Amino acid sequence: MGKKTLVIASGNRGKLDEFRQMLAPKGFDVRAQSDYGVEPPPETGRTFVENALIKARNAAQASGSAALADDSGLVVHALDGRPGIHSARFAGEHADDDSNIDKLLCELEDMPEERRGACFYCCLVLLRHLEDPAPLIAIGRWHGYILEARRGQGGFGYDSVFVDPDMGVSAAELAAVEKNRLSHRGKALQALYQQLDDQEV
Ligand code: IMP
Repeated sequence: MGKKTLVIASGNRGKLDEFRQMLAPKGFDVRAQSDYGVEPPPETGRTFVENALIKARNAAQASGSAALADDSGLVVHALDGRPGIHSARFAGEHADDDSNIDKLLCELEDMPEERRGACFYCCLVLLRHLEDPAPLIAIGRWHGYILEARRGQGGFGYDSVFVDPDMGVSAAELAAVEKNRLSHRGKALQALYQQLDDQEV
């Protein structure tokens, strides 16, 4: 039997490589949505799961194949869940990682450590075809808290201000392989992997 094509609804090279490594052994021919000229859709959902579904549906429609999308971000409890689905553009339309972190630290200024709890959240959605009524949905959470200043050089996004309490270091101080083991994205992928093992896809 030929390999099933699975289109990844992301333009992020790092994510594509990660998904390719994880899913190729499952018999999927993993492709980027750019191979099909798929344009990213407007993310009009109000939750991670809605946005992941919008991205997966857009890729399935444009490619005619199965599609996998992810949506992730930082959820800060004292900020009622912000920046949440707006994590990439917390500081505005042209925000970068640095300006997003500055805004976050400013909003949490003088907040004691016990009120600085946060989690990274990742939702993965796999649509086997455009009209799939029962998509595979997997989530992963990474609990920690927000520092008062940056620590570490690795990673991206909010990594330098997010501490894993068990490890006692920021996500930017972890080796990539260690971060993948602990992270929201790593856990969501493991959960998806489990679902793929449990059923015929
Ligand atoms: P996306 O899922 O690539 O759209 O990520 C949304 C945003 O959430 C990113 O731009 C980051 O600001 C933040 N984010 C998601 N995952 C991580 C992570 O593993 N570390 C740090 N920031 C992250």
